[in-house]
Amino acid sequence: MLDFEYYNPTRIIFGRESIAKIHSLLENYGENIMLLYGGGSIKKNGIFDKVMEQLRDKNVIEMGGIEPNPTIETIRRYIQKCREEKVEFILGVGGGSVMDSAKMIGAGAVYDGDVWDFFKNHDQLPEAMLPVATVVTLAGTGSEANQNFVVTNPDTCEKIGKNGGPACFPEFAVCDPQLTFTVNAYQTASGAFDTIAHVFEHYFAEADQYMPVQDGMQEAVIRAVITELPRAIKEPDNYEARANLMWAAQQALFGIADMGKGHGERVEHKMEHILSARYNCAHGAGLAVVVPPFRKHMCRLNPAKYRQFAENVFHIDCTGLSDYEAGMKGITALEDFIKSVGLPASLREIGAESESDVDFLAEELVRQGRVTKGTGIGLKELKEMYASVY
Ligand code: NAP
Ligand code: FE
Repeated sequence: MLDFEYYNPTRIIFGRESIAKIHSLLENYGENIMLLYGGGSIKKNGIFDKVMEQLRDKNVIEMGGIEPNPTIETIRRYIQKCREEKVEFILGVGGGSVMDSAKMIGAGAVYDGDVWDFFKNHDQLPEAMLPVATVVTLAGTGSEANQNFVVTNPDTCEKIGKNGGPACFPEFAVCDPQLTFTVNAYQTASGAFDTIAHVFEHYFAEADQYMPVQDGMQEAVIRAVITELPRAIKEPDNYEARANLMWAAQQALFGIADMGKGHGERVEHKMEHILSARYNCAHGAGLAVVVPPFRKHMCRLNPAKYRQFAENVFHIDCTGLSDYEAGMKGITALEDFIKSVGLPASLREIGAESESDVDFLAEELVRQGRVTKGTGIGLKELKEMYASVY
């Protein structure tokens, strides 16, 4: 097991009508509150009104318009606004795009340089952030209670994720599964698959070491997604299914189950980031395309762990099979699951129009220095993997 320190100060307020606690939670913060949201879904489904009622004593600076896969330009613009309005607290109400933006704006607003510095320089962490809180309306990223954020620069086709370090945890996260009842089937599935991909990156890391606590928790998270996602698709207002998906998402990128494990180099997230940078697809949908080819590649290198996955997650009887054969059965079961929940399985389904995109994607990832040979993945492997799902 790798050495670790566990730290997550975000207070999680989970359950029905937890929005009603915002008023008292905000008592000790300032008056000027930026209410950050996305394209307006919260105005249609009533969440906006409920939040505004909680902010009744505050000076609310309303800032909608955060786009899915937020761009660096938007973040810079909102940082500017934040400074002009002397914002003291940011409340991000939405999915990963809005919650990530709240953190990036909060960190950028108190930083003298350009917020892009944090993405250009891997080791440069924000030293401070305006206090931020989240109201999660789409389960999947876990952004509500973690210190990560992701930004896109469409001009350079870059999408970069960052672990912002200890300064970037939200103060509190309001998690009412009822708020996700209005998320459509595709976005629900996309978020849920993001959860699986987050777990995978840790689950398959340090595979030669025995870590039954972490493995058991991670397998439970994936199994929960596999049973609860079809339920939530069939019955969008099934509280139990939505609650289980929300908690699974937080466990996947919240910390406890990951401790003591590395995360490879998050290759599948990097392989996806170039897809959402180029096609502006939903993040989890892009992951559904790249995770199976990546895991098939990795199964050859470390088949015993993939056998464990097949047996413990999909309960496949692997008697008489080699580890590799058993592992591949697990990945095939995952592919079947992806199709069964309406997620894409090819680049064409998320926007690729020409086979030459395969070369572009692989070359661009290498050019950006996003995937290093330390992973055993180079240009040739990337091309093979993208081509296999064109
Ligand atoms: P999202 O981009 O935040 O939202 C996708 C769509 O779902 C938007 O159109 C949004 O509408 C809509 N939506 C959200 N809540 C809804 C609701 N309750 N009812 C109806 N529609 C709703 O999706 P996401 O998958 O949660 O976030 C993706 C972003 O997070 C990506 O940039 C990804 O790279 C990043 N990410 C972050 C982390 C992390 O750890 N921080 C991890 C993985 C991914 P509105 O625009 O109206 O809100
Ligand atoms: Fe993700």
